[in-house]
Amino acid sequence: MTLKGKNGLVVGIANSHSIAWGCAQAFHQAGASLAVTYLNEKALPFVQPLAEQLDAALILPLDVRDDAQLEAVFVAIDQKWGKLDFLLHAVAYAPKSDMEGRMADTSRQGFLEAMNISCYSFVRMAHLAEPLMQNGGCLLTTTYYGSEKVISHYNVMGPVKAALESTVRYLAADLGPRHIRVNALSPGPIVTRAASGIAHFDELVQLAREKSPAHEAVCIDCVGAYASFLVSDGARLVTGSIAYVDAGFNVMGS
Ligand code: NAD
Repeated sequence: MTLKGKNGLVVGIANSHSIAWGCAQAFHQAGASLAVTYLNEKALPFVQPLAEQLDAALILPLDVRDDAQLEAVFVAIDQKWGKLDFLLHAVAYAPKSDMEGRMADTSRQGFLEAMNISCYSFVRMAHLAEPLMQNGGCLLTTTYYGSEKVISHYNVMGPVKAALESTVRYLAADLGPRHIRVNALSPGPIVTRAASGIAHFDELVQLAREKSPAHEAVCIDCVGAYASFLVSDGARLVTGSIAYVDAGFNVMGS
């Protein structure tokens, strides 16, 4: 499985614990050329050394709420490569106040903010990537099982991830005729910065390990290996799918 000759965009590296970093390493090892984004100036000192390890062709600022920055990323990719083969969207956010307490108390603003950053941004990225994928391509996002089942303390992110998964299916239908595939990775719980916003996350990790058939904690390298396959030609007929990398947790009953 090789990604030689392919150009990919990776959005969502915050640090060396990020799922996006695990994926980016796997893409790089498989021979892909990469463009990497960072959220803001505060994030740059953490992201830049990682991007350099990937020999990233582009390191660009991107807050997905900012349409101009989003467009600038795809313009820069067009100027650098003239095409894009795949992208990874590994971005999520909800205000802390809306992650605590009950779903029933979620604020309108918090709900919209979470949906905008964690779901709509993927729609916009698909729109901007499409013209750069004349020979087909692959769009990959990241979801979680809390979209399907009620997971304690996941709150507003549950419905947001459900919307993201549905978005994957609709985009797959729209873009399939252009040979652009759209899939979501669904990793089991991994300790990352985003995960630190979920109360009692350590209990979730422990439960996942105990209950999953493989009894193993999920790691970013395992997610990266699967991501690398999904963006490769080996997965050329895989689209619209939710790809679990959760040691089998999702098949278990109570
Ligand atoms: P992380 O904190 O390393 O990554 C989250 C990323 O989102 C960060 O790079 C952050 O900068 C970025 N981000 C937040 N707001 C943004 C904005 N406005 N514009 C651009 N980027 C923004 O955490 P992670 O766990 O690697 O999260 C990556 C993805 O994986 C998320 O979608 C998350 O929901 C998903 N996921 C995580 C787990 C887990 O257990 N960690 C499990 C399943 C799915």
